[in-house]
Amino acid sequence: MLSASAFVTFRRCPEQALGRMRGLYPAESRPAFTGNLAHRIFARHLTAGPIPDAGFAAACREEIGAALNPKLSALRLRPRQLDGVIEEVAALYQRFRRLGLEGFSGAEVPLEAVPAEGVTLRGKVDAVFDEGEGGARLTDWKTGSLGDPVPQLGFYALLWALERQDLPGRVEAVSLASGERIEEVPSRAGVQEVAAEAAEAVTRLRRAFASGGHLDRIAGPWCRWCPLLEECEEGRAATALLDA
Ligand code: SF4
Repeated sequence: MLSASAFVTFRRCPEQALGRMRGLYPAESRPAFTGNLAHRIFARHLTAGPIPDAGFAAACREEIGAALNPKLSALRLRPRQLDGVIEEVAALYQRFRRLGLEGFSGAEVPLEAVPAEGVTLRGKVDAVFDEGEGGARLTDWKTGSLGDPVPQLGFYALLWALERQDLPGRVEAVSLASGERIEEVPSRAGVQEVAAEAAEAVTRLRRAFASGGHLDRIAGPWCRWCPLLEECEEGRAATALLDA
């Protein structure tokens, strides 16, 4: 199985993606937890309606209780720190409420395709909008900076095309932290390119997993959160440089 996040990780550093396959995931972090909670709140808004200010903290606690308790325990936040997280999520939610949401047709939409025997591609799009003749718009909301969302958007377009036998009209990523936004109109050629990249990722990950071998290590800012950092010379050199 290749998920959207594993695909993105593979493109950054194949060895880190292999580590995920072996069960080594980055430790829980406060920004990741804040992002997860914010996404639950956005989905709640889209499916159950706006959340009043007076009930916002209670809504956050309900969402944590429904799905995020293990992550919260791993973080070991004190009650006052959790209040701080909820305040950050409230600020993100205020920006989210200013977005145009016309044509909304689904939140946290799971996509899955089996392009070859034994190969499952999977992802979950934050929201899908129906733009009439323009087709479907797939949206990914970021709660930090936008970074490089193009590979992830390409993977969603591929999944959509495989699952629905049709290209989405548009794919977009929007940062609620910085206001940055990027959108693309997927093309058949672009989707085929992503399909070839995904197929190569699956092949290389499978081979290395089966043989117990290693893959290329590509160091960068992402090494900071990599669970392999301690044993990885390239990653340690990169983080030392970034900290200098
Ligand atoms: S520390 Fe960096 S270079 Fe090393 S495996 Fe992790 S992401 Fe790759």
